[in-house]
Amino acid sequence: MSAPVPASDHAASRRVPIFTVDASHLLQGARQLPSPHYDERPQPDDALVAAGPMVNDISLLVIHAISLPPGEFGAGSAELRYIDALFLGQLDTSAHPYFETLQGLRVSAHVCIFRDGSVTQYVPFDRRAWHAGASSFAGRSRCNDYSIGIELEGCDELPFEPAQYTTLDAVIRAVRLRYPTITRDRIVGHSDIAPGRKTDPGPHFDWPRVRATLQEV
Ligand SMILES: [Zn+2]
Repeated sequence: MSAPVPASDHAASRRVPIFTVDASHLLQGARQLPSPHYDERPQPDDALVAAGPMVNDISLLVIHAISLPPGEFGAGSAELRYIDALFLGQLDTSAHPYFETLQGLRVSAHVCIFRDGSVTQYVPFDRRAWHAGASSFAGRSRCNDYSIGIELEGCDELPFEPAQYTTLDAVIRAVRLRYPTITRDRIVGHSDIAPGRKTDPGPHFDWPRVRATLQEV
């Protein structure tokens, strides 16, 4: 018979979510809402293969921020938030004037972390989600080909929630265990790979806080 677990340990286990990436490249612990907005990751050309194993792999993690409508959080229905609907191709563009600008847009991310720390996955990690657009990292363009895109529900004007950082830390840990070519210096913001075009995750994203939790795996 094992000793009873102290109450403080129960509290800690509730606060720290545990995620794993399973054999189907799905994040166990996340809500799954499969998006049609993805395709296969392309094979890198011979020159990239010769450059090392990193380029033939999932080797970059891109952090984004999104809110719909901009600056509003949790909007949409309880079953399907506007962010979910956008990534699923189901957004009713008549629901808000801003949404008219999104008409016909086919975008996605691998996962989104909402304000309460909950996480939804839209695209398996081994498939190419459509999150980065025109982009370049360390001289290699088309970051969607070799990256994982993580959205946080947020905007340029407001801080993110502590629960989002807690979940983000746990998701990054699970992802890096499965895709170890995502080294510490290959975790970047959308604004880093599309400067001048994108500002997310924005000035309030606490990079020192996130980087402090990163360890080599
Ligand atoms: Zn972005």
